Amino acid sequence: MHNVIIIGSGCAGNTAAVYTARASLKPIVISGHEPGGQLSITSEVENFPGFPEGILGPQLVENMKLQAQRFGAEFRHGYVEECDLSRRPFRIKIDGAWEETRTLIVASGASARWLGLPNEQKLIGKGVSSCATCDGFFFREKEIMVIGGGDSAMEEANFLTRFGRRVTLVHRRDQFRASKIMLDRVVANPKIEMLTNTVVDDIYDVTKGTVTGVKLRNLVTGATEDRAVDGFFVAIGHIPNTKFLGGQITLDEDGYIVSQGGARTNVPGVFHAGDVQDRTYRQAITASGAGCMAAIEAERFLEHEGH
Ligand code: NAP
Repeated sequence: MHNVIIIGSGCAGNTAAVYTARASLKPIVISGHEPGGQLSITSEVENFPGFPEGILGPQLVENMKLQAQRFGAEFRHGYVEECDLSRRPFRIKIDGAWEETRTLIVASGASARWLGLPNEQKLIGKGVSSCATCDGFFFREKEIMVIGGGDSAMEEANFLTRFGRRVTLVHRRDQFRASKIMLDRVVANPKIEMLTNTVVDDIYDVTKGTVTGVKLRNLVTGATEDRAVDGFFVAIGHIPNTKFLGGQITLDEDGYIVSQGGARTNVPGVFHAGDVQDRTYRQAITASGAGCMAAIEAERFLEHEGH
C-alpha cells in the first residue's frame, strides 16, 4: 500500500515527487509513455526562474527527478492503464498489475495533437514529426515545413532553421496565438517563409515510405498547390492524457480535468497537477507550482486521515 502514486514525470509530477518525498511519503512516480514530459522534447528553457543563462529542458526535468530521488521518491518506467477510484484505497493498474494507494496525483500532461490526415500517421518517423528537438537533426540542408500558429510552432520553426535549407511556417489563419516576442523572432528570421490562411490537404508519398511533399490549400482563394518538403513538423497543440481515468474524474469537453479548487478533483484524495488540468498557462513553472500544490494537499489529506 502506497501513500501517494504520482502519474506522470514532467515538471508537475517531478515537483510533486520532490515535495511528497521530502514529507517522507515515499511517492511512486509512474513515468508514462513520455518520460520527462514536454520538457524532455524542448531545447532551451529561458523563462524558468533561477537560470539566468537558460537551461536545456531535458536537463531541468532530470534535475527535478534527481532532487526527488535524493529524498526517497521511486521512479518506475510504466504506463497506467486504468484505475478504480470508487473506494479507498484507490487501485491503479500499472502495466497489467494492480497497486493500491491512499492518494493519487494525476500529472499525466497532454500529448501532441495531429492534423488527422490519412497519410500523416503512416509517415510518422519517416519525415512527419511532432518534435523538432528530437528530429530536426535529420533534415540538414533540407526543405522543412512547420504547421501551427502558437508559441510551439514559432519555437520549432526558429529552431529548425539551424538545420534546414528553408523553413516554411503554415498557419490556417492570419492571426497568431503566439506571443509577440516569439512571432517577432520568426518574422525577423530570413530562413523562414510564412504562409497564412493556408491548410495542408495531403502529405506525399506513402508509396515511397518517406515525406516528399504536401498539397496546400489557400482558404481565401481556394487555390491549391503542391510543394516539395522533406521534414513535416506538426505543432498544433496538445490533447490531455485522461483516458485512463475512465470517466471517474470530472473532465471538460476537451478532456481536461475540471478543478474543484486548489489541486482538488471531484474525488477526495485524487489531486491534479500541470497540463492535464491547465489549458491556460501551460508553462514549466506553472506546472511545477501545481505539482507543489498537489503534494501539499495530498500531505494534508493523509494527515487528516491519520496516516
Ligand atoms: P496553442 O497555443 O494552442 O496553438 C496551437 C496552434 O495550432 C494554433 O495556432 C491553432 O490555430 C493551430 N491548430 C490547432 N489545430 C489545428 C489544426 N487541426 N489544423 C491547423 N492548425 C491547427 O498551442 P502551442 O503552440 O503548443 O502552445 C501551448 C502553450 O504552451 C501556450 O500557452 C504557449 O504559450 C506555451 N508555449 C510556450 C513556449 C515558450 O514560451 N518558450 C514554447 C512553446 C509553447 P488557431 O490559432 O487558428 O486555433
